[in-house]
Order: sequence, then structure tokens, then C-alpha cells
Amino acid sequence: MNFETLGLKAELLDAVRSQGYTEPTPIQASAIPVILNGKDVLGGAQTGTGKTAAFTLPMLDLLSRSDAKPRYPRALVLTPTRELAAQVAESVATYGTNLRLRSTVVYGGVGINPQIDTLRRGVDILIATPGRLLDHAGRPTVDLSKVEILVLDEADRMLDMGFIHDIKRVLKFLPTRRQNLLFSATYTNEVKRLADGLLNRPELIEVARRNTSAELVSQVVHPVGRTRKRELLSYLVREGEWSQVLVFTRTKHGANRLAKQLETDGVSSTAIHGNKSQAARTKALSDFKNGKVRVLVATDIAARGLDIDKLPHVVNYDLPQVPEDYVHRIGRTGRAGESGRAVSLVCPDERSQLKSIERLLSRQIEVEEIPGYKKENIEVGSPAPTSPRRTARHGHGGGAQRTSRPKASGRSQASGWSRDSAASSNSGRTSGTGRSNSQARGASEEGRGEEGTGRKRYYRGKRTESQAGRGARRGTSSSSRSGRSSGVKKVS
Ligand code: AMP
Repeated sequence: MNFETLGLKAELLDAVRSQGYTEPTPIQASAIPVILNGKDVLGGAQTGTGKTAAFTLPMLDLLSRSDAKPRYPRALVLTPTRELAAQVAESVATYGTNLRLRSTVVYGGVGINPQIDTLRRGVDILIATPGRLLDHAGRPTVDLSKVEILVLDEADRMLDMGFIHDIKRVLKFLPTRRQNLLFSATYTNEVKRLADGLLNRPELIEVARRNTSAELVSQVVHPVGRTRKRELLSYLVREGEWSQVLVFTRTKHGANRLAKQLETDGVSSTAIHGNKSQAARTKALSDFKNGKVRVLVATDIAARGLDIDKLPHVVNYDLPQVPEDYVHRIGRTGRAGESGRAVSLVCPDERSQLKSIERLLSRQIEVEEIPGYKKENIEVGSPAPTSPRRTARHGHGGGAQRTSRPKASGRSQASGWSRDSAASSNSGRTSGTGRSNSQARGASEEGRGEEGTGRKRYYRGKRTESQAGRGARRGTSSSSRSGRSSGVKKVS
């Protein structure tokens, strides 16, 4: 399969080529022709699968077929977070570089006046977070009555973040006749309800494996007492010479504190969370992306939608309260066909969270003790004789590293998209088509230690093929309204 067969115009193919993409990702191969046909789409795809180009390329193609003036937004992309909005806007500008279309992004947290000026000059494509868009629509400083294509990106996230009412209010500003594209990593009942009310006989497009990126992620749990987590993290980063690590903490305060402590340990770090100004968030992200800091400590909300190329390590410093967030967190690594490693530092009082995560994944995560750090037992299993299944448990979709021995680990191997769509894997993933099944998880606690490594690795329970990939997310609510703006991105 190559891009030329999808029906996109030459200007877009040139832009894709200049990005170095050789073949479409599965979601792109499926969605692009359908969208070009004018159909509504319900897309099951997570960040990291290439979904942005899957809707942006055909959207640009359709819009470029007519040159409507004066310029009111003819395409509207709604995203849950400022960062994702900015990233989508960047993609729109990149892929549309050879077309005469204009785009801009609006979100809160920054002055509204420059956005008003930009909107007044006219744009074809508007990328927005719901709150700030409603500010504009209410004034009104934007006219949404000419919108032909509506995209809801990361719809499940938007619902999680409590945007359902804002979305409904936005819909009232739109014409009833339009093409609707809804992308979501998972299908909760809420997403289904939203899709039912929004989409007109949609084409359901799912990438073969919803959470392909996670298949390239090797996952490990290091048991550790709560008070020694920081010390262990420092040790792993320094000894393993980890170059770029995204660390998740539960609270904003915890993120700040940890970043400061790591700095004291000589590990360059910065924090990103909702209490920081947008300018500080942007700086933290760019310092991390361009290698000025090794560790970015983030809260779940701040990290949503971050696209950091080839991120090799994600660390769960605190396990998330909501198990589905674990899947989103580890989706930050192993992106775009790269392999990655997800490390969880788990203390005894997080045992039930670990269990919930494993139930969601329908698999158990390898446990590896780091000598000298596991003061308290988190009862993850008892050592048992070596079992032949160990090899299989390590087969994380190819390319995944076997152990996290700090000295040995380094940047992940590159791998192609073809790997994503190919082989089966034992990795946990959410299919989103059903609730996770608590019975799916092996009840037995048959673990074992591994000799000769200086560390113990335990595996618990059994996992059958039919259990693989089950799981769904629950709606959760969180705060963080976002939005803010930047200037127009003229795509011509
Ligand atoms: P997304 O799922 O849209 O966040 O995309 C994740 C990453 O995949 C981005 O860094 C894109 O630049 C990259 N990407 C998108 N399409 C392709 C492709 N066909 N081949 C290789 N990389 C791609």
C-alpha cells in the first residue's frame, strides 16, 4: 500500500513525501478514501497511530476543491487540550503547505484579541479547544455557520474532561448538513451516545489493533517503598543513561517537587502541569523535546496528546487512579512504530491500582526487583521455578527490550509501521469494545524468580489468547479546561 493509491491530490502527496512517510499507517489507509468520499467516520485510533494525518489529509483535499470566500471556517477540529490543538494545527500547516488554505488554532490561557484579529481576516480551518471556541462563538467573533467538516479528536478524552456540554453548545452553532469525523481511542457508552447523536450512517474504521503503540512497549514494575521512589528513579535514569524520560506523578505539587529533587540529584528535569502558564508549559515541552532536559515530570492532564518523537522511556512514578490512564501514559512511548519501555515504581499501597491496571490489560506486568530498593513486599507473586512461558511473556510485539537493567538499556530500536499492523503480540492493549473482564485475568499467583540476573522477575497468573486485548475505559472526570491561541497558519 502506498499513498498514491488513496486518491489524494498531488500537492498533498508531495507534502507527505517531504515528511519522509513511505506508506500510510493502517488508520490512514482505511480512513482517507472514506473521508474523501464524503462519509462520516467513527474512527477507533489512539494518538501515535497516525490518526491526525488520517483526517487532516482528506480534509485538506476536500476543502481545496473549492475556494470559498469570504473565508469562514469550513472545517472545525475540536481537541481536548491546548497541546493537542497546537499539534494538530502544526500538522494541518505541514500537510497543507502546498495548498492555498488558511488555518488557525484557538485555545484559552492566552489573550483573545490576537485570535479575534486572525479570525476576522478569515480562515478555512479552525482548530480549537471547546471553551475558547465558545467564547468566540458567543461574542460572536467567529461564524461557524459555514462549517462543512467537523472533527472531534480524542472524543473519549473530551468526555473524560467534562466537555460534553460544551460540545453540545458548539454543535448548535454549526449547520446541520456537514461531514462528521469522530476519533476515539476507546468506546465508552458516553462515546457511543455522542457518536449516535452526531454521526450520520458512519463508516466504522478501526485500526487492526487499537493500541498498536503499546504493543511495542515493554512494561515492567519495580517494587519499592514510597519514600525511596525518587532515589530509585534517579538511579535508573543515571545508571541506565536514559536520555529522555517522561515521568508521571499524580499531583501537580508532586510533579514540581520531584523535578526539583531530580535536579538536586544532577538529573536535569522540568515539570509540566495545569498550574503552569501556557508559556511555561510550552517551554518545558520544547526543552524536553530538544534535549535540554532529560526528564519531564507531568500530570496526566498536562501530558495528554503530547507527541514527542521516539520517546524511549515512560515512568509511572505514581500509578494512576484510573487504570485507563495507564494505557494513555504508556502510549507516549513506542510511538509511530518505535519501541519503548514503560517502568512503574510501585509501592505497597498501590497494589490495588496495579491490579486494576492488569485487569484492564488482561495481562500481568513483569515485576523486577532492583536489589537494595525493595524494602517492602508488594506481594506481587512468589518466586517459583523457571517456566518456559517466560520467553513468550517477553515477546512484546517485537523490538521490545527484555530487561530494564539500567546499564544495558538505551534508546529503543526503530521499527516500521508494518510491524504495527503485523504480528500478534502478548502485550496489553485496549480494544475499547467491551469492559475489561475481571475474570479474564488469571487468578493464580504463580510467580517465579529468575536466577543469575541479580534481580528477580515475577510473573503472575495466566493469560490466554482470548483474553488478549480486552478492556475498555470508564468515563472519568477531570478538570482542566483548556484552550489558547496562536497566530494564523497560512497553509499556502
Ligand atoms: P498521530 O497519531 O497523529 O499523533 O501521529 C503520530 C506520529 O506518527 C507523528 O509524529 C506523525 O508524524 C507520525 N506519522 C504519521 N503518519 C505517518 C506515516 N504514514 N509514516 C510514518 N510516520 C507517520
